[in-house]
Amino acid sequence: VIVGGGLIGIELAEMLRSRNIPVTFLVRESSFWNGVLPEGESQMINEHILEHHIDLRLETNLAEIQSDVHGRAKAVVTDKGETIPCDLVGLTAGVSPNIDFLGDSGIVLGRGVKVNRYLETNIDDVYAIGDCAEQHEAIGNRRPIEAVWYTGRMMGETLAQILCGNKIPYNPGHWFNSAKFLDIEYQTYGWVFSDLTKKENEMHFHWRHPKEKICITVAFDKESRKFLGINTFGIRMRHDIFDRWLSEARDIDHVMEHLKDANFDPEFYDPYESDILTAFNWQFDTQLRMKKKSWQRIFNGT
Ligand SMILES: Cc1cc2nc3c(=O)[nH]c(=O)nc-3n(C[C@H](O)[C@H](O)[C@H](O)COP(=O)(O)OP(=O)(O)OC[C@H]3O[C@@H](n4cnc5c(N)ncnc54)[C@H](O)[C@@H]3O)c2cc1C
Repeated sequence: VIVGGGLIGIELAEMLRSRNIPVTFLVRESSFWNGVLPEGESQMINEHILEHHIDLRLETNLAEIQSDVHGRAKAVVTDKGETIPCDLVGLTAGVSPNIDFLGDSGIVLGRGVKVNRYLETNIDDVYAIGDCAEQHEAIGNRRPIEAVWYTGRMMGETLAQILCGNKIPYNPGHWFNSAKFLDIEYQTYGWVFSDLTKKENEMHFHWRHPKEKICITVAFDKESRKFLGINTFGIRMRHDIFDRWLSEARDIDHVMEHLKDANFDPEFYDPYESDILTAFNWQFDTQLRMKKKSWQRIFNGT
């Protein structure tokens, strides 16, 4: 039984299923990871989890873990009163920095070790980076603690510069991330909020393939039409291109018309940009035309 429906829970489920071990997956939310993913995407992942014969229990919490006479897990009891026998319980309900040992150190702590943009704590010559570091002020839409590998690496690079005398602030740039939900690759660039956390100005365009588990959601500003971010499932997109479009504050029309430049699927994969643009034009009553892929634009930006 796995408790907690996030990236690590689904990774553990995939690993157990790859060895033909039956899995029951307890997820507190009404749909998988719907605090992060928009509804259409979350729904598609629910379906994919079930296709992998994982017993997905939505809106279900862990109430108790029962042990046998040897102290080993033998069952879990859910908040719905159901007892599920098991040999192993995977607790994947989130991470928090393990900083108890710093309690008496005089270092200012929150959920993590508090740092400024130079990754300095309140004590001279003591810095914190990686999963344990908590920014005093969140940077843009980012969380004060970001437990992902690439921000840890960027903090490491920044701190190396600082220690070598080049005092630069930590600047993680535009948000991006990638992961895998069983067979489906996921990428995100910029900000696409879930239906639960979406801001007033954020408009979504969602396209899903009629048969395959492939979809995208593009977020843009309702008023200015500024492109805010994209989530892709089952289609690989170029990080560089979206990073550039975000920096150049491109509008949604530019992004949709140049989508072929962003596609990074390997050879012989079916392209879907034309279908996506047709759906966009239909939904938003626009007459955008797909531009031919240009290597010049891709590599030189012109
Ligand atoms: C199962 C799993 C899957 C993940 N998948 C992804 C992913 O796909 N993409 C992604 O971006 N991120 C992923 N992450 C997050 C990523 O692993 C972390 O963000 C990254 O490892 C953080 O690096 P770090 O150096 O800050 O901490 P860690 O890698 O946790 O290293 C901290 C080290 O400090 C040691 N330590 C702790 N306390 C003490 C102490 N008191 N004294 C001495 N040593 C101590 C620990 O033992 C450990 O070796 C995943 C995490 C997990 C757990």
